[in-house]
Amino acid sequence: MLLDRDGSKWYKGNLHTHTTESDGAKTPDEVKRIYKSLGFDFLALTDHWRVSEAGVYDGMLVLSGVEYDCITDGCYHVVGYGMKEKPEVKRGDGPQEFIDGIKRAGGIATLAHPAWSLQRPDKMAELKGVDCTEIYNSVSGYPYSARPYSGTIIDTAALLGFRAVLTAADDTHFYGDEVGRGFVYVKAAELTEDAICAAIKKGDVIASNGLFITARVEGNCFRVYCPEGCKYVQFFSNLYYSPYTTVTGGTVYEASFPLSDKVSFVRAEAVGFDGKTAYTQYFYPHA
Ligand SMILES: [Zn+2]
Ligand SMILES: [Zn+2]
Repeated sequence: MLLDRDGSKWYKGNLHTHTTESDGAKTPDEVKRIYKSLGFDFLALTDHWRVSEAGVYDGMLVLSGVEYDCITDGCYHVVGYGMKEKPEVKRGDGPQEFIDGIKRAGGIATLAHPAWSLQRPDKMAELKGVDCTEIYNSVSGYPYSARPYSGTIIDTAALLGFRAVLTAADDTHFYGDEVGRGFVYVKAAELTEDAICAAIKKGDVIASNGLFITARVEGNCFRVYCPEGCKYVQFFSNLYYSPYTTVTGGTVYEASFPLSDKVSFVRAEAVGFDGKTAYTQYFYPHA
């Protein structure tokens, strides 16, 4: 748990992991022990087509989880967590059925690793009720695959009206270097399933692979704070060009992006000197 400059609590969690219950290399108990030892506050075990149980492991909150996948008019993986019951979905269903089933079961539906899935932005924008999507998924990168970052695809979908909370996850299968290299910080009053899930739905989330930042609107600017300092902050908006896109020089602790009338969405990424990155949520000035 981290405290930010306002004294708010941020809990660290991984919402997408695999175990021997599907194609992961470690048992559920081993996995819980690993994340507990890495200092995680919460975890969801999201095996393919296997709904895991909620609980508490040595003080670490464990949410129920599952991942459904299909190849219909494209490849879709939808992760659910925080369900109160088993979702009513079946093999052969498409992404919308997965999303609807997870939400009917009281869970949060995440469109996983859009870049790895080569997701089409126009198809993403047609989906209804997506709660979250992964801007970063470490197992989708080196040495297992080559597309860990989905920001460009999600930005393109955002132009078409797609709206979702941005998360990061390691999607661990192999328990190598990918472990702990994608996670979320969630701002919540307490470490309970209800508080964490409500905060995620609200978007009180920073996606990360190792860096912590916060963001808020001040006056007519979208403003990012990086308490540890970073190499640069970049703003991603609907504008093709803006002189305010990159803030760099020395160690960057704060950065601002002016919200002109032409800005329909903006988000930011901060990159540390060690390459670790943190990702804010989108802000929609005219929403
Ligand atoms: Zn997947
Ligand atoms: Zn997965």
